[in-house]
Amino acid sequence: MAQLLARCGRTVLVAEARAELRCLREKVLRGELRCADLQAEVVARGVESRLALRALPRLRPVFNLTGTVLHTNFGRALLPDAAVQAVIRAMRTPVSLEFDLDSGGRGDRDSIVEALLCELTGAQAATVVNNNAAAVLLMVNSLANRREVVMSRGELVEIGGAFRMPDVMRSAGAKLIEVGTTNRTHPSDYTTALGPRTALLMKVHTSNFAISGFTASVGVDTLAEVGAGKGIPVAVDLGSGSLMDLRQWGLPKEPTVRETVAAGADLVAFSGDKLLGGPQAGIIVGRADLIQRLKRNPLKRALRVGKLTLAALESVLDLYRSPELLRDRLTTLRLLTRPLEEIQAQTLRLLPPFSAAMGDSFEAAATPLTSQIGSGALPVEALPSHGLCVRSIGRRGNLRKLESRLRALPRPVIARCADKALWLDMRCMEADQEEEFLQQLSVLGR
Ligand SMILES: *Cc1c(COP(=O)(O)O)cnc(C)c1O
Repeated sequence: MAQLLARCGRTVLVAEARAELRCLREKVLRGELRCADLQAEVVARGVESRLALRALPRLRPVFNLTGTVLHTNFGRALLPDAAVQAVIRAMRTPVSLEFDLDSGGRGDRDSIVEALLCELTGAQAATVVNNNAAAVLLMVNSLANRREVVMSRGELVEIGGAFRMPDVMRSAGAKLIEVGTTNRTHPSDYTTALGPRTALLMKVHTSNFAISGFTASVGVDTLAEVGAGKGIPVAVDLGSGSLMDLRQWGLPKEPTVRETVAAGADLVAFSGDKLLGGPQAGIIVGRADLIQRLKRNPLKRALRVGKLTLAALESVLDLYRSPELLRDRLTTLRLLTRPLEEIQAQTLRLLPPFSAAMGDSFEAAATPLTSQIGSGALPVEALPSHGLCVRSIGRRGNLRKLESRLRALPRPVIARCADKALWLDMRCMEADQEEEFLQQLSVLGR
């Protein structure tokens, strides 16, 4: 107990000791208390394990073997080392967050990344908020409060949770004017909807679903022409918003921010932690006068990002200035483009120790799998991958139990359960993590 006191202090030790005693009293009342339960050693050990349990963080590192690379439930993009170092520095030391080192006067926190964002997207100006949902809210509220926003019925997306475009419009104070149909919208649909109260033409990238067949939609370039005639700005929610053409790495095509700006969008909003591979953030780039209006909105102050986000974002954006080295340096891109042979070799390496640890009620096999990019990006495109498929031998093993045993490991292993099998996609287990994975398999065996 003296050791525990030194380690944790009196407050928490007393609290956990009381909890342990309460538990013993309940045992008495149920007539379950054994003499041995009252040995001082045993009571102290009980308190110790309570303290250990309480000390476990709720935010735990896991192995994401779901095959979804940018998984919102697991925190989406993993930061590259350079960004991690920048964040640590910003945590430990004072930084020039809102301080202009040239003039010695007050600075603007957006200016930390604005020049980089403009260089990488071809836009005039940029601002950053907490996430892309906040970016969309800020755009609409700043430009269309108590006025009308025209949108295609084919783009009234639900992103997930409470983020549904018609609701966002209402929260931002704008009146949504729906045009076109679910599958087809034409330029004339927008033109006829324009009126004296129209403030914004909005386009949302349909990132998490696909409509195929008899379809038509209006591109950003055409929409910009429609808006320009009447002086009405065009805002685009790009969702993932890639900064580079991903086809150069063999990935499917996703519209880039630069293309969207060049096509005539006045404002473009996108996430920092999806394909961009940075910290959670919402980035808005576009016309300088409109960005100014966003910055003057009191909501901007409520939605702004902190220094840690800016430190990480600056560092990640800087990597994009050397596109030749990006695939190696940007963790997200490295995971998305991991060579299939490498994933396959790793799977074959892990198969024997994994099989041994599972026991003889299950059988595991190496199998081709398909990974997903995730976070709504390119939902219909699959990335060929490799991993383990675990099945019960006859009715001997309980897959649900195995799944929860994997989740109970010191670093929980998250697999996918489907078709009476457990699937472990190895794409996101980079070589430097293998050791830790193997080590804790001994715990699984127990
Ligand atoms: C993901 C996404 C959002 C929300 O972005 P967050 O960064 O998660 O807030 C908004 N719109 C689209 C089209 C998206 O794909």
